[in-house]
Amino acid sequence: MYINGVWQSCENNFDVFNPATGEKIGEVADGGVQQARAAIDAADAAFGEWSRRTAYDRAEILYKAWELMMARQSELSELMTCEQGKPLKAARNEVKYAADFLRWFAEEAKRVYGQTIPSARPDQRFIALKQAVGVVAAITPWNYPISMLTRKLAPALAAGCTVVLKPAESTPLCAIAVFKLLEEAGVPVGVANLVTASQPAPIGREFCENSLIRKLTFTGSTAVGKLLARDAAPQLKRISMELGGHAPFIVCEDADPVHAAKGAALVKFLNAGQACISPNRIYVHESIAERFLETLTERVAGLRAGNGMDPSNSIGPLVAEPALDKVARQVEDAVAKGAHLHTGGSRILENGLEKGYFYAPTVLSGVTDTMQIYREETFGPVAPVVIYNDQDDILALANDTNYGLAAYVYTQNISRAMRLFEGLQFGIIGVNDINPTSAAAPFGGMKMSGMGREGAQEGIEEYLETKLGGFSV
Ligand code: NAD
Repeated sequence: MYINGVWQSCENNFDVFNPATGEKIGEVADGGVQQARAAIDAADAAFGEWSRRTAYDRAEILYKAWELMMARQSELSELMTCEQGKPLKAARNEVKYAADFLRWFAEEAKRVYGQTIPSARPDQRFIALKQAVGVVAAITPWNYPISMLTRKLAPALAAGCTVVLKPAESTPLCAIAVFKLLEEAGVPVGVANLVTASQPAPIGREFCENSLIRKLTFTGSTAVGKLLARDAAPQLKRISMELGGHAPFIVCEDADPVHAAKGAALVKFLNAGQACISPNRIYVHESIAERFLETLTERVAGLRAGNGMDPSNSIGPLVAEPALDKVARQVEDAVAKGAHLHTGGSRILENGLEKGYFYAPTVLSGVTDTMQIYREETFGPVAPVVIYNDQDDILALANDTNYGLAAYVYTQNISRAMRLFEGLQFGIIGVNDINPTSAAAPFGGMKMSGMGREGAQEGIEEYLETKLGGFSV
């Protein structure tokens, strides 16, 4: 753990495993409420000095961190592949994406503008000032174990906040690597603190109940997000919630089915389907369904699962045994209710992969709204295809979910693209585009997918208060 500028051990440690091999790859300190409190106190003590520094000073440190991260892209990617499982190429892309947030918010730090507002009274002036909210508590998930940290740390530090971060229990080593880099970049003592823990709930509660925390930022499941939002409510803490998703992927009747199928195969199987913006319902118009399914199945059947350190593998393991069980349960339920299995459909138990958590890349068609996979987030390498016949129904079908994070549309008709873009109740829409993300673009969801936005200009607003000054002159 990194608390008040000191790397600390603890009475107990917990083990970290490689999900591709089942091997133990490290041991980290198992922190608890006591350590969380010490970290919050350190962040509180550091807040005054850090928030009063000029934005230029803070930006310099973030630029330095960006440089260090890019210089260490290879070693950080290798660590990520060992700890989280995604193939090395995807890990490299994630490190670059993570570093982008450091650079973007180094730039945004200098653009925290207030306002002067004309008054109706001749003897009055209004000034609206933006100020850092205070000490921030951050909780991050395992699926993007470096970029989800910088997406919170960079804007918080840029705004002048100090932070206590608790990473996911399966990926603490990536978090430690990020904090080593921040220390080296010159982040002052107490400004960024890391508490690793195997038991997240008591720390989450401390973050919600400790009155020194003014803002809680969380990325993870909707269930935990709701719990934290509830616990943060008595003190009316500011919260940002980046939660689960159930993304529709709409292939309209006028789309090129081959192009769309290639896109679906790419985005669905990113990180073995363990992404919050992963398509969960692929709606294909019946007039092009056959061609689409043919291409999708061919592409998916050609994906090689295995240890991400081998560049010929494009699908890594799932995070742990329960994730495999969830995927298997959803696939069994769908098949039992009449879905057609085109490829995959089982855990991989050969060629040494039985030691890890590998599930064969899977395509299902004939998926209907009675199946679990149609409503629950899958978080695994399964592409469920729903065939529809009336283009006019598609908007209602796609919006029929409690989630509202990402959606995708394939069409060659500009009016249809615009109507769907405007009508879809999701925070991120890819139109003939499978990667609508960037440090410069606002990321976040509607409905049960959360509140607040990360990245972009909006990302820093989450860490700022507006203070109004009325001056009589
Ligand atoms: P999770 O909610 O189980 O865990 C996320 C984090 O919360 C981890 O650090 C975990 O230790 C912590 N946590 C768990 N229980 C807690 C508790 N009671 N109190 C405090 N903290 C607690 O989710 P996960 O399985 O690690 O991550 C996958 C989920 O994250 C998916 O639902 C995915 O869609 C979502 N996600 C969302 C985004 C986004 O930007 N919207 C990005 C990545 C992942």
